[in-house]
Amino acid sequence: MKYQSTRGKAPVLDFDDVLLAGLARDGGLYLPQSWPEFSAAEIRAMRGLPYAELAVRVMRPFVAGCLNDGELARLCAESYAGFAHPAVAPLRQLGHNQWVMELFHGPTLAFKDYALQLVGRLFDHVLKKKGRRVTIVGATSGDTGSAAIEACRDRAAVDIVILHPRGRVSEVQRRQMTTVLSANVRNVAVDGTFDDCQDLVKALFNDQAFRDELNLSAVNSINWARVMAQIVYYFAAGIALGAPDVPMSFAVPTGNFGNVFAGYAAKLMGLPIDRLIVGSNTNDILTRFFEGGIMRTDGVVPTLSPSMDIQVSSNFERLMYLALDGDGGAVDKLMGEFRAHGAMVMPQGAWTAMRQVFEAYRFDDEATLSAMRALKRSTGETVDPHSAIGIAAGLKGHSRKDATMVALATAHPAKFPDAVEKATGTRPALPPHLADLFQRPERMDTLANDATALKGYVRAFAGRNRA
Ligand SMILES: *Cc1c(COP(=O)(O)O)cnc(C)c1O
Repeated sequence: MKYQSTRGKAPVLDFDDVLLAGLARDGGLYLPQSWPEFSAAEIRAMRGLPYAELAVRVMRPFVAGCLNDGELARLCAESYAGFAHPAVAPLRQLGHNQWVMELFHGPTLAFKDYALQLVGRLFDHVLKKKGRRVTIVGATSGDTGSAAIEACRDRAAVDIVILHPRGRVSEVQRRQMTTVLSANVRNVAVDGTFDDCQDLVKALFNDQAFRDELNLSAVNSINWARVMAQIVYYFAAGIALGAPDVPMSFAVPTGNFGNVFAGYAAKLMGLPIDRLIVGSNTNDILTRFFEGGIMRTDGVVPTLSPSMDIQVSSNFERLMYLALDGDGGAVDKLMGEFRAHGAMVMPQGAWTAMRQVFEAYRFDDEATLSAMRALKRSTGETVDPHSAIGIAAGLKGHSRKDATMVALATAHPAKFPDAVEKATGTRPALPPHLADLFQRPERMDTLANDATALKGYVRAFAGRNRA
């Protein structure tokens, strides 16, 4: 399989180089040159497969030429073996034709584990083959850092340094990162805000000599391999609920558009998806876009669903490229407009095509809390604020059209205990594998908000393997 950039000017790459590159050199995002499509008979033949084996069937065409079936099967088996539920991504019924898929049984209790557990292993596998090492540097406001650390811990070809703003992440979130004591992991608490942390990371990546010296890399959500691994659970839900013979819709709490774009990819691959329903919080750039055809950024407002507090949805560029029939020049022009003016107008035809599949709804904190309360009352289920937005968006979509609806639950309620307690009156307990989180020893270093100090720190840590 070959991959091309959404802006049409970067070199065409194989899977392994797309994995390591992340962002394309022309600023675009990589997509496969053609979409593998499964026939109805092939989808039927996936019924009953364990999650890790289904993952091999779904992803095999994307890695063709880089990984053989045996290698992919081993990596998938290892990636999902540690999940806390035997079904990996179990479904629960909420009402007539209404379901929720729980994507929070991985090590850090958020859906990002489903992709990152595999991506960490893919990195290690490809780097070892090439005889290379990388240093992953990232900033986190909470969820992504712990998922990346769990994905990279103890990998032989990877060192990872994660920055977080000192005293500004929740104690659960901090401990999920700082209690990982593996030799290849470092946590840095920065005296500053999340934006300061992001600026520090940018400063390191912008120093080309430093970047080359330590082979800096990132595992952010624009990496194609993350999208690829997320396609699997759409197939898992679809097949369990009757695909290819029963069509269904998915409702997805959305920030960077990576998760819901994986649903669109599943549709292109032959899964009978009717609609994709985007749920947003007060930071509703996507909802406003699907309502009016204009993408316009606004200030970010902190909400109860912090992992969706985003005003630029980077993965949206992938949908745009497909809706513009693969015209990289047109994507480049629109993204340029967006960067310069904070707004872009989608050509009418592309917007209409998107609207045939996508619809979107927004929920402010009040509506999120009342959705959590209502769900608890009607079904007994306790959900986190992100999942609540997905479920509430699904209900709105369902009321328009009564067909099978699957909402994706993206975080475990114990990850956001304050919001859950506020909504339901009960504080959720951590699951057994994290029950002793507050007793585990922590390790982290504290640094000033200073790029020179950070470079010295990263060099001293990651350079030890390069002497
Ligand atoms: C990252 C995240 C999201 C948003 O997913 P995108 O792929 O960025 O749209 C939603 N919920 C939770 C809990 C997350 O961690």
